[in-house]
Amino acid sequence: MAEQRRGERGGRDGRTGAHEVSEPRRRDARAEETSAWRELVATARRTLSDGLVVGTSGNVSVRVGDTVLVTPSGVPYDRLTPDDVTGVDLTGRQVLGTLVPTSELPMHLAIYGSTGALAVVHTHAVHATAVSTLVPELPAVHYMSAALGGPVRVAPYATYGTDELAENMLRALTDRRGCLLQNHGTITYGTTLAQAYDRTAQLEWMCRLWLTASSVPGLAPSLLTPEQLTEAAERLRGYGQRRS
Ligand code: 13P
Ligand code: ZN
Repeated sequence: MAEQRRGERGGRDGRTGAHEVSEPRRRDARAEETSAWRELVATARRTLSDGLVVGTSGNVSVRVGDTVLVTPSGVPYDRLTPDDVTGVDLTGRQVLGTLVPTSELPMHLAIYGSTGALAVVHTHAVHATAVSTLVPELPAVHYMSAALGGPVRVAPYATYGTDELAENMLRALTDRRGCLLQNHGTITYGTTLAQAYDRTAQLEWMCRLWLTASSVPGLAPSLLTPEQLTEAAERLRGYGQRRS
């Protein structure tokens, strides 16, 4: 992947050598970042093995303090090693690694800048992307909409990797933990990679459910009311095992 690297670090500490002027100083990954990177790569690989993306589509990020670790652009996830840790600061300046960060940095950074998110997952999941071409909002066919904050909106189309797409996405994310990107895919966030990933999987599942139910000729699916979604949201707060 040498062609995707931004030039090699000048010296071991990045302070010396031919790239001193053009290359910003990079630092070594801390222990917490090394383990977060391992989890990020596992999550990215899971998007592929679970069929939520094909090839190098999609991207994943996780925030560790003021550093955001991100998947590099266009690199197959099975080729990522522990040495490929790629990280930027909250303004997008690269502080870790030499691989070019994901082209969707504007979306990831916009989420970290305006929510309490610690992890973001972007995919091109097929049912979700299909729904994004049909409606401005995923109809509330299931109570799991409540887990995403309410009926999931579709952000209007803009070219991938642009600030415009990030702006459209942020509007669609108002009071939501995920949205669809018109003719593009999904984006969800959470306080852990597992939570952000699960929200994407639930969103894709709900889109498949709506497409299935709404494709029966002559019939239309029943939808949940805002009150029913609010009740589900309250109940979901206590879902799962009690924590002691
Ligand atoms: P990257 O490989 O740059 O992350 O791009 C994939 C993608 O999904 C762009 O929208
Ligand atoms: Zn994409």
